[in-house]
Amino acid sequence: MKTRRAEPARGAAGDPDLVPQLLRRAKHRSEHRRRLLRAADLLTEAAAEVVALAVPVECVCCGNEDRAICSGCERQVRLLTRLPFRAESSAPALMGTDGSVLLPVVAAGIYREELAQSVLSFKRHGQGPLTASLARALGRAIRAAVGGGGDIWLVPVPSSKAAYRKRGFTPVLLLLRHLHRHRVLDGLECHDVLRKIRAPAAATGSSSGQKGLNRGARASRVRGSMRVGWAAGGSGLAGRSCIIVDDVLTTGSTLAEAARALHQAGAVVRGAVVLAATRAPDAAPPRGPKPGTGVIEKNKGRKDE
Ligand SMILES: [Zn+2]
Repeated sequence: MKTRRAEPARGAAGDPDLVPQLLRRAKHRSEHRRRLLRAADLLTEAAAEVVALAVPVECVCCGNEDRAICSGCERQVRLLTRLPFRAESSAPALMGTDGSVLLPVVAAGIYREELAQSVLSFKRHGQGPLTASLARALGRAIRAAVGGGGDIWLVPVPSSKAAYRKRGFTPVLLLLRHLHRHRVLDGLECHDVLRKIRAPAAATGSSSGQKGLNRGARASRVRGSMRVGWAAGGSGLAGRSCIIVDDVLTTGSTLAEAARALHQAGAVVRGAVVLAATRAPDAAPPRGPKPGTGVIEKNKGRKDE
C-alpha cells in the first residue's frame, strides 16, 4: 500500500514518519497540519478497506479468499503472541561474553507460522487488517515490558532510506501510530528520533541486505549506521528513559546499534520490544540482570525464568 509521499524529506518538518505519532501536545502552528496528516492517514486506511471489499483478497497466511488475514489466522496470531517473553538470550549481540544481559528485549512471539507470514507480508505491503492484528500483539508486548511505568519514550528502529522509498512506510512506526490512535499507549510517548545513515561497512560490496551474513559481518555492517536526528526531537533525549521498538529480532545487532546511538545522545535505554524473535530463548536463563534495566526486569516473560 502506497502512502501519501514518495520519498522521505530531511528533517522533522518533512518526515511523514514523524507527524501523527506525536504524543506531546504539538505546537500551535503545527496543529492544523497534524490534523490534516492524521485525516490523510485515516483516509488511506479507509481506502484500503474499500479496495479490499471490492477486490478479492487472499489471506496472507492460508491463502483463503478473505481479508489480508482471515479470522482463523488472526486468531492464530493472537495465540502466538499471547505470552510476551524475554528474548535477548538468543540474540548474541545483546549478551555479554560472561552471559550477562546487555540489553533486555521483550518479544511478542516467536517468528514462525502465521506470525511470521503476517510480519513478512506486513513489512512488504502494510495491509490494514494486518496492521490492526500485529499492532495488538506489539501493544501487549510493550505493556508487558513497561508494566505500570510511565515517562518512557518508545523509539522505533528507523527504516533505511532505500527501504522507505520501496515501501512508502516504516513498518514499526505504522504499528505504533495505530496503537496511539487507539489509545493503547496512553501514558507512553513515541518519538521517532533515530535516523539511518550510510554505515562505513556498507562499502563492503554486498547489497543483498543482512541475510546470510554471519554474526561478526552483520555486526560490523550495522555499527555506526544510526544517529539521533536532532531536528526530530533528539535534543530531548538527555537523561530520558527509552525503550527501542523493532519488528524482528535476529542477532540483535540492529537493536545494539540503536541503543548505542541513543546512549550517545544521553538517553537511558531500558530495553527493547520486538514483534517477533526468530529464535526461542535458550533454556538456560541469562545470568544476572544489569542495573538500569529495571523497567523490563520487573516483567520477565515465563520462558526465561
Ligand atoms: Zn487465513
